Amino acid sequence: MISISKNKCVGCGICIDICPEGIEILDGRARIKNKNADCFKNATIACPQEAIKDIKEELIFAVGTDDDKTIKSDDHVGMSRYFQVWKYSNGKLDFQEKRENVKYKEDEERIHGDSGKAKATSSVLEDIDVLVGKMFGPNIVRLRNKFVCAVIKELEIEKAIEIIKENINEIVEEYDKEERSGIILK
Ligand code: SF4
Repeated sequence: MISISKNKCVGCGICIDICPEGIEILDGRARIKNKNADCFKNATIACPQEAIKDIKEELIFAVGTDDDKTIKSDDHVGMSRYFQVWKYSNGKLDFQEKRENVKYKEDEERIHGDSGKAKATSSVLEDIDVLVGKMFGPNIVRLRNKFVCAVIKELEIEKAIEIIKENINEIVEEYDKEERSGIILK
């Protein structure tokens, strides 16, 4: 399923030149005109913002944690010390790296819900498609424009990864929505 991220797209129009059958510009952003067009692959490669992707082929997940074994549960996900980054590709979910939430330290003094905190968390998670945590703070309103915000009750990361795999179709559907509301994974 091809998707164009309205948050990443800057409306440069490069993709329209390459794939006029499949993509159009509306309100200054690229949108899918015809999902069956054959030219998406070249447009995906050419987009300087990496805004076009086949989300059934690849999704990048970040799981908030303090200890690498359990999901952050005593505060919201943006306050996690680390993010485990996982890549979903060709039906498999593989661990990629542990990423330190550097900006968390810089913003430690800021109050929860501060827009600067949301920006800082977003910069650490620049390439992330799905943010997984037990709790999301007031910034979820801003975050869900950038990521799929997936709330998960299971705290053990190993088990949580299995739940993510079982719910991958629901996650893809949420990713593709114009107005995301967030999802709860069980
Ligand atoms: S090439 Fe990428 S950034 Fe430019 S209009 Fe198309 S989707 Fe948007």
